[in-house]
Amino acid sequence: IAEVRLVLEARDVSVQFGGVKALTNVSVSVKAGEICGLIGPNGAGKSTFLNAATRLVNYTSGSIMLGGQPLEGVGSREMIGMGIARTFQNLGIYGSMTVLENVMLGAHHRFGGKFAQAIFAPSRIRAEERSAREKAMAVLEEVGMVELAARAAGSLSYPLQKRMEIARALAAEPKILLLDEPAGGLTHGEVHEFGSLVDGIRRKRNLSILLIEHHMGLVMSLCDRIIVLHLGRNLAEGTPSEIKSNDAVIAAYLGK
Ligand code: ADP
Ligand code: MG
Repeated sequence: IAEVRLVLEARDVSVQFGGVKALTNVSVSVKAGEICGLIGPNGAGKSTFLNAATRLVNYTSGSIMLGGQPLEGVGSREMIGMGIARTFQNLGIYGSMTVLENVMLGAHHRFGGKFAQAIFAPSRIRAEERSAREKAMAVLEEVGMVELAARAAGSLSYPLQKRMEIARALAAEPKILLLDEPAGGLTHGEVHEFGSLVDGIRRKRNLSILLIEHHMGLVMSLCDRIIVLHLGRNLAEGTPSEIKSNDAVIAAYLGK
């Protein structure tokens, strides 16, 4: 029997901040092409898990595999080349730069830190610049923002800034996209539109997505599977309808 391909497979990951155990033996896996939700009450450890999976924080035990390759010993810069991209809970945009320039940063990451080539092969760097620009324009087209390419990113409405963040992550041509509360601060209508965008991108690119989100309507409609964390541990896992009716999950959200 062919095994379902796991794009991300984290097993028994623990993270500690001084005396605080933020994660204890947390396991999270994401299959090829699925949208997997990662939910849980505030402080459950969701962002910490994303930070561990992108090597922004160290984990003290456990293992994380990305596309079948262990993350241990991989630098956070090389990781983008391994096919992982993310957005942050708080917008990470450069307001005075144009939309195109912001998205090009994502495409540049794809090429890695080839600074030596800037000295020894400037023509190659120019070619990469051109390629990053083309890639960024193609992604802006995909998310319906081409006509905004020359605008200062800081002048965009908040929903468009969020959309631009997705574009920047996509410019790195990831296999898996990690989204940390991408719908935070959006109105109900904007959340719906955002959901359609993400679903469309997933289908078109056959992308795997790990979605951290507080907006339950969005999580339930978008996710194939949901993993619930509570107090830094795995609490439950299942389909949206299983999670909706899971007593332990309901109790965790009610603060019991
Ligand atoms: P969530 O994203 O699910 O709301 P977090 O991953 O942000 O939760 O936080 C999990 C726990 O780890 C919380 O108790 C939080 O206070 C703690 N924590 C997160 N980041 C740090 C940090 N850099 N230093 C110390 N404690 C942290
Ligand atoms: Mg968080």
